[in-house]
Amino acid sequence: MSSSMSASSQLNKTVRSHYLSLPQGGLCQVTYVWIDGSGEGLRSKTRTMESEPSGIEDIPEWIFDGSSTSQARDTNSDMFLIPVHMFRDPFILDPNKLVLCEVLKYDRQPADTNHRHACKKIMEKVKDFHPWFGIEQEYTLLGADGHPYAWPSKGFPKPQGPYYCGVGADRAFGRDIVECHYKACMYAGIKISGSNAEVMPAQWEFQVGPCEGIETGDHLWMARFLLHRVCEDFGVIATLDPKPMAGNWNGAGCHTNFSTDATRAEGGLEHIEKTIEKLRPSHAEHIRLSDPHGGQDNQRRLTGLHETSSIHEFSAAVANRAVSVRIPRQVAQDKRGYLEDRRPAANCDPYAVTTAIARTCLLEEEEEGDILSDLEINELE
Ligand code: ADP
Ligand code: MN
Ligand code: MN
Ligand code: MN
Repeated sequence: MSSSMSASSQLNKTVRSHYLSLPQGGLCQVTYVWIDGSGEGLRSKTRTMESEPSGIEDIPEWIFDGSSTSQARDTNSDMFLIPVHMFRDPFILDPNKLVLCEVLKYDRQPADTNHRHACKKIMEKVKDFHPWFGIEQEYTLLGADGHPYAWPSKGFPKPQGPYYCGVGADRAFGRDIVECHYKACMYAGIKISGSNAEVMPAQWEFQVGPCEGIETGDHLWMARFLLHRVCEDFGVIATLDPKPMAGNWNGAGCHTNFSTDATRAEGGLEHIEKTIEKLRPSHAEHIRLSDPHGGQDNQRRLTGLHETSSIHEFSAAVANRAVSVRIPRQVAQDKRGYLEDRRPAANCDPYAVTTAIARTCLLEEEEEGDILSDLEINELE
């Protein structure tokens, strides 16, 4: 066995498929998925239901041990899992389900890393704008040894250039994972809209959306769960680290494309430009809110090199990839469409990112005040 492959990926998958094909007697396996205390990691556990749930309302709340996920102390460790979005399970197949959950503390207040709670309220407030988001999730495959997948164990692959959208054994590293993940997303019911090989070898991207409002985070988080789970079968690791390799290698982002009824309508470019002027003064706040470590992680990526802008300054332009916010060429030509916020890093929480965009771009100041006191999220001030 190569040291870059995990042990469990070497188990006999033909034997596995015999057991998985056994009938399950009308029962249903429901796997609850949630975001842990790191704000980046995902956890899951499975229970049996007597019959197939027909919707999210059929799936009961559950609890888990928050002291084992950095979410609670030993002495008060039970936390609530609140099912919020149901998907089909692409691993053990119909009728089994994957269920994304919100996490609540013992007092039923949202857990510290539960950014969905605030996101849902803001999205409810701005729903008449019909905000759409499309997210480009970049990630890097690593062997079990933590080195980028299929990179020479000593030294480096050839410099960047041939790998973006590349084809061939010397430039596409790990395509099996990309293809299997894509199918798994489609089966599950995730709005995956594309994929491509990235600039750094062993780095890839998939896109989710456009999704409206709260759906964005739900679909992206479950797509991330599927990615980690598919990778597990192949014995490799997907990292969302914003800059897995220092030096002359691209980092990994989570470009967030955004539009509303107004920007999509004829002459919407004018609204896109106005939106950009709203984003400009809240640059530092967006950088902080969209990073699980307050901007520290993204600092390694947003250097102004490798198709990024400086973390310290806001900039915007048409068709330019070295800016904070890009207006795609097609959008400038059509004079309508969407903008691309290129700042969020691969490990951002899409609930936090879409909340920040909706607040800054769509809420009036007094509404913002209201909702913040409503939510008691003063740290957002
Ligand atoms: P790039 O050229 O930046 O690599 P991609 O093709 O990877 O662009 O991604 C474009 C993203 O824009 C997709 O996630 C897609 O869902 C999203 N998108 C397309 N139209 C809209 C829209 N009207 N509003 C929001 N997002 C959109
Ligand atoms: Mn892209
Ligand atoms: Mn990309
Ligand atoms: Mn992009």
